[in-house]
Amino acid sequence: MHIPLRFQEVTDMTTATSERPTVHVAPRDLAPSAPASTATVMELSKVSVYYGNYQAVRDTSLAIPQNQITAMIGPSGCGKSTILRSLNRMNDLIPGARVTGSVTYHGQDVYAKDVDPIEVRRRIGMVFQKPNPFPKSIYDNVAYGPRVTGMTVSNMDDLVEEALVGAALWDEVKDKLKTSGLALSGGQQQRLCIARTIAVRPEVILMDEPCSALDPIATNKIEDLMHQLAQTYTLVIVTHNMQQAARISHHTAFFTADVDAAGERHGRLVEFDQTGRLFTNPKDKRTEDYITGRFG
Ligand code: ADP
Repeated sequence: MHIPLRFQEVTDMTTATSERPTVHVAPRDLAPSAPASTATVMELSKVSVYYGNYQAVRDTSLAIPQNQITAMIGPSGCGKSTILRSLNRMNDLIPGARVTGSVTYHGQDVYAKDVDPIEVRRRIGMVFQKPNPFPKSIYDNVAYGPRVTGMTVSNMDDLVEEALVGAALWDEVKDKLKTSGLALSGGQQQRLCIARTIAVRPEVILMDEPCSALDPIATNKIEDLMHQLAQTYTLVIVTHNMQQAARISHHTAFFTADVDAAGERHGRLVEFDQTGRLFTNPKDKRTEDYITGRFG
């Protein structure tokens, strides 16, 4: 399938160990095995990201499967968010940030000169750690993306409802759509941000620790929602919570950081596998040490 990214309609805006240690994730917590479909939506090949001269993460290669949830885990500072942002060119917005290697979306180079980064971010949306609704009404938060990207919308009310239903928020807000998004609880605000993201009909949703500012009940709701979203979208989530990765994801990428002779840390991908396998039968000793709590 060829999906052009060059739209310009946007207007204003590895060795298994013999002794199995205790894994901190119970098998019942593991998400069901990955669905049979293995179509790849995005692919990173030898991706390194620099901030100025500092190579924050090096040589990352992995394929993001369609309609599945891919989790990125690993100790703080190993480059998970950096790699996540490289998928939709969010690092472009950081002065001095530079990406080498290749990132493709349906086989097309996301960083090619004629690709519009705004269109990339519409197709590959992002939800952040801290819920960040605009200081606008719930309705206007959701309608914002379609309006500024010049999307052709036959009925905005229907689109807003559809996005809020899709984000499992409609029933809680349908009678107060004119209320400020900032008046909602933290969990509701995060679901509003998800509604805002899906309103522009992306294909991929990136989530950078979307539950870390939320209480357990709100976290539960977002995790349930992620499962629903994966039926329509491809999800990539950074989480510092291994249990969460095990519960929700089909595939997991484990990152760590190497320290070079000058004492600088460089993130790298250690292992990428189906979540069940990575948590029960990791191939690399470093993965095993991390998931068994020996470091990190
Ligand atoms: P993680 O998500 O695994 O915690 P990050 O991707 O946030 O890791 O960071 C990886 C490395 O890149 C860290 O050393 C961090 O300090 C550095 N880094 C992240 N963002 C920036 C930035 N905007 N400018 C400079 N360095 C950054």
